[in-house]
Amino acid sequence: MLLGKPVQEAILEEVKRGLAALEGASHRPPKLAAVLVGDDPASAIYVRTKTRTCERLGIDSDATILPVSTSTEKLLEHIDSLNADDGVDGILVQLPLPDGINTQAVLDRIDPRKDVDGLHPENVGLLVQNRARFVPATPAGIMQMLDRADIGIQGQNAVIIGRSEIVGKPMSSLLMHRHATITVCHSRTKDLPGVCRRADILIVAIGRDAMVTGDFVKPGATVIDVGINRVSERERVEELFGAAADWEKFEEKGYVVVGDVHPQVAEVAGAMTPVPGGVGPLTIGMLMSNTLTAAALRAGIDI
Ligand code: NAP
Repeated sequence: MLLGKPVQEAILEEVKRGLAALEGASHRPPKLAAVLVGDDPASAIYVRTKTRTCERLGIDSDATILPVSTSTEKLLEHIDSLNADDGVDGILVQLPLPDGINTQAVLDRIDPRKDVDGLHPENVGLLVQNRARFVPATPAGIMQMLDRADIGIQGQNAVIIGRSEIVGKPMSSLLMHRHATITVCHSRTKDLPGVCRRADILIVAIGRDAMVTGDFVKPGATVIDVGINRVSERERVEELFGAAADWEKFEEKGYVVVGDVHPQVAEVAGAMTPVPGGVGPLTIGMLMSNTLTAAALRAGIDI
């Protein structure tokens, strides 16, 4: 299994060294400003995990929670105030935003030098040109995982399921820059299992529980499962895990977290990330790294 925690720890150790270098240059700690709109429980947990990790490292953080009824204009005003605040180095708007908010307008408004999620068009362009400033944290974390597990990339067939701005598209740029041959699949792809079976590295970011089954995977392939899905139907949990189901957790929480890859794929794959405990911790680690980068960049300090 490709576990996320040890890789996260290694990333955070590097971040700590960077923080010490900032301090050595008599600079204040970096500050991350998170913005959460609405009361989606999963998003609230993500924001809390991110600010807690900041605390642990000595990065200042601040989370603003706005009501679900917030208008695009109000949110843009809030972004403007964070852009203008010299004490804020990184701005993170937790996605997805509620229906009715113009997400693109919000992302476009973030100062590109504070855009630690790497979703501003300027940062997307820099990544595509292989001179990235901020790489979205999830695909950046996946690259760390592949490298630290010594999984070769050059010349390999990499198949990505999902073409989102936050995972699929930046993942394809990163792997292409490292000389893999890339195929990006989506909901209109024909013969998805057949295309996936050509992959030496299969990255799955769909948002559908256990959709990728053993027949999608070439024996020995590396499988990275980005999906985070809550399954709250008892029958589905039984179907997925059989006797191995964690009923205690299910009763306690009312759901089980499942990836986009069926757990049985572990028997076919050469290496695979678990859910939870695979990609999730990497995302947090790389967000911390991007926040440090933002602070150093704004301060003009080489770390
Ligand atoms: P997204 O924006 O919803 O995109 C989903 C992609 O999957 C789309 O490109 C869609 O195709 C494709 N898709 C949907 N159904 C499909 C099907 N039946 N066959 C083939 N492709 C299909 O998703 P996202 O934001 O990338 O997130 C994906 C998953 O990763 C979610 O579970 C999310 O919670 C999780 N996630 C986890 C982390 C982490 O840190 N672990 C970070 C980000 C996201 P079309 O483009 O054709 O619609």
